Amino acid sequence: MSDPNSFVILGAGVIGLSTALTLRSKFPTAPITILANHFPGDYNVEYCSPWAGGNWCSSANDNGLLESFDRLTFERFKEIASKHPEAGIQPSPLRMVFDQKVEDSEILSRDTGRVWYDDLVGGLIPLAQHQLPDGAVFGLDLPSTFVINTQIYLRWLLAKCQAENIRTIQAAVSSVDDAFISSSTTAVFNCTGLSSHSLGGVNDKSLYPTRGQTVLVEQPIQPLQRMYFRSPRRVDNDTTYVFQRPLAGGIILGGCREDENWNGEVDMDFAQDIMRRCCALAPELGKPEDLKVIKHGVGLRPGRKGGPRIEAEVRSKGFVVHNYGAAGAGYQASWGMANHAVSLLTEALEAKEQISPKL
Ligand code: FAD
Repeated sequence: MSDPNSFVILGAGVIGLSTALTLRSKFPTAPITILANHFPGDYNVEYCSPWAGGNWCSSANDNGLLESFDRLTFERFKEIASKHPEAGIQPSPLRMVFDQKVEDSEILSRDTGRVWYDDLVGGLIPLAQHQLPDGAVFGLDLPSTFVINTQIYLRWLLAKCQAENIRTIQAAVSSVDDAFISSSTTAVFNCTGLSSHSLGGVNDKSLYPTRGQTVLVEQPIQPLQRMYFRSPRRVDNDTTYVFQRPLAGGIILGGCREDENWNGEVDMDFAQDIMRRCCALAPELGKPEDLKVIKHGVGLRPGRKGGPRIEAEVRSKGFVVHNYGAAGAGYQASWGMANHAVSLLTEALEAKEQISPKL
């Protein structure tokens, strides 16, 4: 029997694509369309997902919903990495280095005082003093988390959507209401990331950019044993990371977190600083002057005061389910955020059904 509902996903970043696939699993026959200005393969500062590091290194510590998003996504990454090695997600150890005391590091969960993902990553291992770089206070090895080749993964998600009979339309809309592309559209999922700051009908001024700059370099002959992450806290603007991407995707070096900075231009002096910091953190990289640069990048993380907005709204044309504002966690929280957004829709549809049952 065909489904009476039809849906539009506005946005084809990691959040929109994951939401589309989650929606398809709940509504196997409903028409679903992804409407977006940018799709995997595009590079634009208004499209954050291609610029991510990216890895799974939870910064959630709310002992609640945000941690649950990251947990669900970790489990999904595990499944994808084992069943679909071509998707660009791979298990990898990670070394985290902190420049402040553990009680100031923001890794301890509210109320429990524990690192919530200790068991998930195979048991955290504290670093010995001699393993810490100069100035560091403590460090932890995560035996097994995930690293993502973002270009490959986005394309894989898109291909999966197409295989699931999800239609795509490349276009920009000026208002969320314009995404109701036909009179039969039941709901629109607003997955526009930072653009919701100025999208008509949304205009969410609690969104702000957190600028990140990266350098993609060729892999040395000897593969790196692990990823490195110094200053992983959400609030550290001098963050440094080295992630070796799966499927010969090179090594991504970063970075920074600059709140409220909308500048999408590469700062070449700062790129030198990134390479210097990364070589100091990961000695396997060798000297900064020996690195072979493939590409420089700048991305604007969709930060939001109060955290991501995942919320159902009733508008004159139908339901809008907002799913944006993932900040620096859009990959590691993607499947959890998608799942929550789709649950809100099903609750809204059930409530509507109760108010106006079919005769
Ligand atoms: P976007 O990727 O920006 O997608 C928005 C979509 O909406 C696009 O398709 C766009 O075209 C569309 N759109 C917007 N407005 C309109 C309109 N008016 N009409 C039509 N379409 C529209 N996350 C992690 O989990 N792990 C990491 O290691 C990590 N590292 C990062 C490193 C850097 C340097 C940066 C910049 C980010 C990093 N992130 C990381 C964060 C992650 O990249 C973001 O949270 C995520 O990409 C946000 O995805 P999104 O789908 O919400 O938004």
